[in-house]
Order: sequence, then C-alpha cells, then structure tokens
Amino acid sequence: MKNIVVLGSSGSIGVQTLDVAVNMKNYINVLGLSVNSNIEILKTQIKKFKPEAVCVNSSQALESLKLWIKKQKLKTKIFLGDDGLESLVSLKKIDTIVCAITGHAALNPILKAIAAQKNIALANKEALVIAGKIIMDLAEKNSSKIIPVDSEHSAIFQCCAGQKKSQIKKILLTASGGPFYKYKKDFSKITVAQALDHPTWKMGKKITIDSATLMNKGLEAIEACVLFDLPIDKIEIVIHPQSIIHSMVEFVDGCVLAQLSNPDMRLPIQYALTYPERIKSNIKQLNLTEISKLEFFKPNFEKFPCLAIAINAAKKGGLWPAIMSIANEAAVNAFLNGKILFTDIAKIISKTLLNFKGQSKIVDIKNLLKVEQWTKNYAQRLIEAKQR
Ligand code: MG
Repeated sequence: MKNIVVLGSSGSIGVQTLDVAVNMKNYINVLGLSVNSNIEILKTQIKKFKPEAVCVNSSQALESLKLWIKKQKLKTKIFLGDDGLESLVSLKKIDTIVCAITGHAALNPILKAIAAQKNIALANKEALVIAGKIIMDLAEKNSSKIIPVDSEHSAIFQCCAGQKKSQIKKILLTASGGPFYKYKKDFSKITVAQALDHPTWKMGKKITIDSATLMNKGLEAIEACVLFDLPIDKIEIVIHPQSIIHSMVEFVDGCVLAQLSNPDMRLPIQYALTYPERIKSNIKQLNLTEISKLEFFKPNFEKFPCLAIAINAAKKGGLWPAIMSIANEAAVNAFLNGKILFTDIAKIISKTLLNFKGQSKIVDIKNLLKVEQWTKNYAQRLIEAKQR
C-alpha cells in the first residue's frame, strides 16, 4: 500500500486524484487531505476515505469541521493553516504528497513537503515557474523525488526514462491550441464562457483561461526547462489539436519518442503514484483507427501574445518568469470576474514586466516575496485603470 496526502483535494486535479485512489484501493491509502476553503467537498471526501488528518485554512472552518467530525464519530485530526500544513506533510507514513493546489499559493506547501523529505507528485506549474531553482535544489538536497503530473511533463518524463540528458536534442511540447486556435473573430470580444469551453480537456478555471490565451503553454515551456534542466531554446512548441500525443523528445540521433493516450488527467496522476510501476487503469483505451488523423501546426505568436511574452521571459531569466506568472494570475482573475477584456490579459502582463525596475537577478525567497507584492500591486493598478 502507498500512503498519499492530497494538497488541494477539492480542486479539479485533487478530485481526479481521489478518483484514481478509488480505482486503486488495493494500492493507495489516502492518509491526509487539505483544502483552502471548500469544506463541503472536504466533508464528503473525509466520509469516503477516512483520512488520518486534514488541514483547513480558517479557524471558522476548523471549528465547524470539529463539530461535524465528532457527530460522525470519526477520528480524523484537523490541522489549521500554515503550521497545520507542516504537521500534515510531516506525517510519518506518507509515501507521496500530491500537490494539486492552483497558482502561486502552492509554493509554500511544496517547500514544506520537500523540507519534510517526502516525494511529490507535482500538478502545480506556477510554483516551478516562479521558484524552479529553489524547489529543485531543495529537492535534491533532501532526496525528494519530484514526479510531474502535468500531462506534457509526464509524457516527457516517460520518454526520457533510461535516456541520457546529454543526448536530448530537444523537447517537442504539444499544445491543443485551446478553443481559439482557429478563431477568426475579434479576440477582445471573447467572453468568459467561450474561454472556459476547452475543446479537449476538462480542467479548473485558471488553467482553462491560460489554455485559451496559450499562456499555459508558455508556463509549461518554463516548467519543462526547470524539471528537465534544459535551456528554453531546446523546447519547441507544436500545436496538436487532437491532444493524443502528450509531448515528444527528440534525441541526438534523430529518434523521436512520444507518449500517446486519450486526454484524461487520471493517467498522468496514476503514473505519478505508481512510478516506476504501471498498473491497470480504467481510462478509455486509445483507438488510433477511430481517431484516424493526428495533426501538427506551428504556434501563432501574433495571435497569442501571451505565448511570446512567456518565451521572452524565459530567455530573460532571473525574476522575469516570476513577475510574468504573478501578473498573469492577477489578470486571469480579473478576466474571470468580468473586470477586463480577454485581450487585456497580455497587455497587463507586458506592461507590468516593462515597468519592473528592480535590478536584482537573484531569485531567492526574500526577493520573490518582494517582487510578488510589487507585481500584485502594479497589476492591480492596471486592472483598476482598465475598469474606469
Ligand atoms: Mg498540461
């Protein structure tokens, strides 16, 4: 049995992880869960999995959950906030911590999990974009394995198994293209509902908007550089609308390895939990004759400026990827709340980057926290100016 803790268990990846756990109940034991605010989903998960401990983020949630757990005659321990999270990720029996928290809020929990010397199935990309080196260095020091859950990175990880890093020529990072790849109308008129309607993947709101602007692919390119220790010019983005090939790796001899499956996040989640083993899953089998064609196109950087911004930020390095990603998170939230237009997302990110006057190139936690505050404030001012 493998004991897992799921951080961010009420979100899309968290829920799918628990779905995988149900299908592997002879293999996986859910030892702990954490949510930010969704207590109702947490209650149903506690009932189903009877975890040893859970962590919530407010004392109000803690109190109401305490009463409920007493009524249910359960023995689940409840931890609170930052310190609570530290206790949760330090539970002795943990084999793998699944980090399914959305956005930059995942950084602190990831660092805590690594500090506790646990292996991590990592579904969060923002933390790697803003603090990749800090995370990877600490993981190496503490012998924590980081297994990617993002479908593309899981594919690359699988293609690289048993290969030498020095023999990788480049990574072919595939992208579905999102809902607007062939869209010919005015991008500024794109509504939230249109942007949330992804053609191949069902995901959380933030990542779905990132997929519509192609920022998601930009973040993933940086994520790949961090996870596989490669420069950005070794990452080539290929639009592949069918989302059957989840990424490829080209080697120096010209050989290209690819990983294929129907688009279903439960597969990379399961692989991250069973690695290096493979066990039977119940995802829909791939039928290539039914699919019949796989297409590939070059990305359009003019139509999708967020992708160009991300690649440029990766080239600049230092604090640029962090500023870009934090400004993006603020802009995406503003778009989801109807405060700005779809096309304002890229404008807010590039304006924020252009106005960053900090000279330091050093990415340490102290600098990051300073830059995070500055970026949030600056992006917020731009968002408010758009509303007027
Ligand atoms: Mg992905």
